[in-house]
Amino acid sequence: MEATRYVYPFEEADSRDRQLLGGKGAGLAEMTRIGLPVPPGFVITTEACVEYFAKGRKLPKHLMIEVKTNIRRLEEKTGKSFGNPNNPLFVSVRSGSAISMPGMMDTILNLGLNDTVVKGLSKATQNGRFAYDAYRRLIQLFGKVAMGLDDTYFDVILRETKKRVGANLDTELQPKTLGEICQEYKRVIKKELGQEFPQDPLEQMEIAIEAVFRSWMGKRAVDYRKEFKISPAMANGTAVNVCTMVFGNMGPDSATGVAFTRDPGTGENVLFGEYLVNAQGEDVVAGIRTPKSVLHMKDEMPKQCRELEKVRHILEKHFREVQDFEFTIERGNLYILQTRNGKMNAAALVKTSRDMVQERLLAKEEALLRISPEHLEQLLHRRIDLSTQVEPLAQGIPASPGAAHGKVVFDADRAERRGTLGESVILVREETKPEDIHGFFRSKAILTSRGGKTSHAAVVARGMGKPCVVGCEEIEIDERNKVATVNGHRILEGDVITIDGATGYVYQGEVPTVEPEFGPDLKTILKWADEIRSLGVRANADTSKDAATARKFGAEGIGLCRTERMFNAADRLPIVREMILADTTQERQKAIDKLLPMQKSDFKKILSRMRGLPVTIRLLDPPLHEFLPSVESLVWEIERLKEVKKSLEQMETIPDSFKVILEPSLQKHIPPIEHILGELSEIKEKELFDELLQRKEEILRKVRETAEVNPMLGHRGVRLGIKYPEIYKMQIQAVLEASAELIKEGVDILPEIMIPQVCTAQELKQVDRWMDEIREIVEKKYGICVLFKFGTMIEVVRACMRAGRLAEVTDFFSFGTNDLTQATFSFSREDAEKKFLPLYNEMQILMDNPFEILDIKGVGRLMKITIEWGKRSNPKLKVGICGEHGGNPRSVEFCHTLGLDYVSCSPYRVPIARLTAAQAKLREMRRDRAELEDPDYPFNVSF
Ligand code: ADP
Ligand code: MG
Ligand code: MG
Repeated sequence: MEATRYVYPFEEADSRDRQLLGGKGAGLAEMTRIGLPVPPGFVITTEACVEYFAKGRKLPKHLMIEVKTNIRRLEEKTGKSFGNPNNPLFVSVRSGSAISMPGMMDTILNLGLNDTVVKGLSKATQNGRFAYDAYRRLIQLFGKVAMGLDDTYFDVILRETKKRVGANLDTELQPKTLGEICQEYKRVIKKELGQEFPQDPLEQMEIAIEAVFRSWMGKRAVDYRKEFKISPAMANGTAVNVCTMVFGNMGPDSATGVAFTRDPGTGENVLFGEYLVNAQGEDVVAGIRTPKSVLHMKDEMPKQCRELEKVRHILEKHFREVQDFEFTIERGNLYILQTRNGKMNAAALVKTSRDMVQERLLAKEEALLRISPEHLEQLLHRRIDLSTQVEPLAQGIPASPGAAHGKVVFDADRAERRGTLGESVILVREETKPEDIHGFFRSKAILTSRGGKTSHAAVVARGMGKPCVVGCEEIEIDERNKVATVNGHRILEGDVITIDGATGYVYQGEVPTVEPEFGPDLKTILKWADEIRSLGVRANADTSKDAATARKFGAEGIGLCRTERMFNAADRLPIVREMILADTTQERQKAIDKLLPMQKSDFKKILSRMRGLPVTIRLLDPPLHEFLPSVESLVWEIERLKEVKKSLEQMETIPDSFKVILEPSLQKHIPPIEHILGELSEIKEKELFDELLQRKEEILRKVRETAEVNPMLGHRGVRLGIKYPEIYKMQIQAVLEASAELIKEGVDILPEIMIPQVCTAQELKQVDRWMDEIREIVEKKYGICVLFKFGTMIEVVRACMRAGRLAEVTDFFSFGTNDLTQATFSFSREDAEKKFLPLYNEMQILMDNPFEILDIKGVGRLMKITIEWGKRSNPKLKVGICGEHGGNPRSVEFCHTLGLDYVSCSPYRVPIARLTAAQAKLREMRRDRAELEDPDYPFNVSF
C-alpha cells in the first residue's frame, strides 16, 4: 500500500478539496493553477494534522521527508537555497482550516533566517536595516507562536533599547542596534525556556509545523468551534501553508496591501482596498502606519495598479464571488498571497447579486442563494447610521428591528394624543397590555423594561413593523411620576431618545439613522425569486393600511384578516360591549345592527385595496371577555363610586349641622356649601350615581359570567359563533354585501371566509347553512351573484384527525400553527415561555422555541397527515399557513417541502418569505433521494 501523501505543491494540489487543504491552501493552489502570481509554496494537508493528534501529538513518519523534498523543489524553482547566506530562501508558515477561525496559530514570516544568513542577506541587499529587522521579527514571532514565550519579554527589550539609543520609531534603529536586539531576544528565549532559538532552518520548519498543528486544539480554537457549532464534517484539522517570502519592505518600489474585488460597503464594481509602501504584511492590519486607499496607486505605482485591476477581474471571473485578497509588491513585482470570499453588508450583497447576474458572472439561481434571510431583514428597516459613534445608554432585548427616535411618553393615551398632533413619540412602559394598542399606533417605537421576545409589546410591534426593545432592565420606569432612571441618569417625559430594535440599544437624544433600502436592486432580486418559487406568499393584514403595506412588499393576497381587530377600535368597543352585555336577542340584534355597516365598510376598503388578489377574512375568534374591562378595574370603580356617593350624602348634612351649632364664625361658610350642593343637585336628582353603579355592577356580573377557567380553550371561535348566531351572521352579511357592492362597482375581488377553532365538520355545516341563507338574501337584494370561498383554520388536533371530513365541506385549510403548537405540545404558550421553555432550550430537551420555529417533527408531521387526508377527499383543496411561523425562514422552507399553496405572514416579512420560498425550491432541486430519506435531513417527517 502506498503511504498517504501529506504534502502538495500549490500547482499540484486539488484546489476543490477545501477540507483537505484548508481555505487558505485551496485559494493559493487555485490562484497558482489559473496563473496568478503566487510565490511558490506547498500545503501540508489537514490529514497530517489529524494524524498528528491520532499519534498522540507526533508528526507522521514521512512528513518531514516530504517537506524536505518540497523545499528542494522550492529551491529549484526560486534558484535560492534554504540556509545559504549568499542566496537565501525564506518562507512563511501559515495555518488555515476549511473554515476560517480565530484562535489558530499566527503566521511566522521570514523563516530560514539565522545568525549567518542574516549577515549574508545584509551584504547581498546592501541593506543591513532590512536584514536585521527581518531577523528580529522572526525571532520574536517564532519565540512567541512556535516556542510559546510571552510577547512582553520582547516588547520590554525593544522599548528599553529604543530608549537607550534615543530612537522614537522602529525605523530609526540602526543595523547594529537591531543586531543587538536579536542577541537580546535569543538570550531571553534561552533564559526563560531553557532552549536555544534554532539556527537550523529545517529545525525551525519542523517546530513551526508542530506548533500550527497544536494550535488546532488550543483553547481559543476549541471554544470557537463549540460556539459556532463547527463539526469535524465542516472542518477537521488545520493545514500548514509554506510559502516563499516576498518582501514589501525593500524600498519605495515595494508595498503591501489588502483589497476587495468590489466595494464591500456599497457593492460598487470598483477595486477597493488599502496599501502601505515599504512595509511588510501585517503592518497594514496592525495599524502602525495609516494605509492609503488603492485609488492613490494609479499615481504612485501605475503599472502595478493596472496589474491589480487585471487580477481583480481574473479572481472574480474564476471564483464567481467577490474576493477579499492580500498582495505584496517586491521591487515592482506584484504577488498575490491570499484570497477568500469577501464579507459584505446587506446592501452590497444585494447590489452585487444583481450586477453579477447582469454581467453574466452568475446565474439568477446562484445570485438568489447568496443572500441570507437575515441579510434581507437588515435592509427592510431603518438602521442606526454606523458612521456616527455614540455610546448607548442601555441595552435591552432586540424585539422588532428598525431604529427610531422620539419623545418619551409613559402612557398610551398621551402617546396617542401627542402622536396625533404630529409629534414623534416613543412609548416607554414597564410592560404593555392589549388596552395600550391605541398608543402603539401613534408611536414611532416601543421600549419596555420587562418581558421577552414574545411579550405583548414585542409581538404587537413586530406585527406593525415598529422598532421595539423589550426587557431593558437597566431602565427603571416610574410610570406614575413620569420619569425613568438609567444608571443614575434621569429621563423625563418629552426627552428625546433613540432606540434600535435590531441591536436592543437605547440612546440618549437623536441619533442619525439611515433609510431602509427597498430599492431597485432588491426589487429585481425579489422579482427573480418570484419567478422561481412555487410557494405563494400572502400577508396577515387587518386594516386597509396593512393591506397597502402588504401589496407594496409584494404579497399575493391576505391570508389572515382578523375581524376582532376591527372590534377593538375606540368607536366600536362600546357597541361591541353593548352586544356582549345584551340580555335578550333583540337587544343584541340592536347592537349588531350598528356594527354591520362598520364591518361592511372595513371589508370594502380591504377588498378593494387588494383587488385582483384573494382576501381571507376570519370570523370572530377570541373569547368575549377580551372586549370587556377586567374584574379588578370594575371592582375598583364600583368601590370609588360608592365612596363618592357616601361623601355627597354626608356633605348635605353640613349646612344644617352648622345652623344648629349657632357659632357665628361657621355661619359664613353655609352659603358657599349650599351653593355647591345646589350645583350638584343635578347628579342627585337624576340619580346618576345609582344608575352608574347599577350599570357597572351589571357589567361586573356579566364579566364574571363570561369569565372562564381556561379562556383559550373555552368559549371562543366557532363555538361562540354557534351559540350567538347573530354575530357570525352579521359578519357574513357584511362580507357578502361589501362584495356585492364592489362587484357592482366593477372591482375584481376574491373574498374568502374562514372559520376559526373548528373541530368537527358539523360546525362547518352549521355555518355553511347560514351562509347559504344570507347569500340568497344578498344576491336577491343586489341582483347579482356573489362568489366566495369557504374554509377553515386548522388549529385543533381533532380537526387534523378529521381532515378528510372537513375537506369535503371546504375550499381551503389554513394552519393556525400557534394554537396548533399549543395543542400538540399541550403547552400554553405564555406559561411555557415564561416558566420552562428557556430551561428546556438550555438543556437541549427542545432545540428551539416551537412557537418561533415550527416544530417539524411533531406539528409538521401532523400537518403532513392533515394535508394528505384533506386532499384525498377534496383534491382541489388549497392549503396555507397563517401565523408567525409563516415568516420564519426555516419554517417557510418546510412549508415549501410540504407542498403548501401559500404562507401568510406579517407584511414586513413578505420579502423575506418571497426570497426564502425561492431558495427552498432551489435547494430542493439540488437534493437527491438519499438526502431526502436521511433521518437527519431536517425536513424529514417520517422519523
Ligand atoms: P492571516 O490568516 O492572519 O491573514 P496570513 O497567513 O495571511 O495570516 O499572513 C499574515 C500576513 O503575512 C499577511 O499580511 C500576509 O500577506 C503576510 N504574508 C504571509 N505569507 C507571506 C509571504 N510568503 N510573503 C510575504 N508576506 C506574507
Ligand atoms: Mg491573511
Ligand atoms: Mg388561533
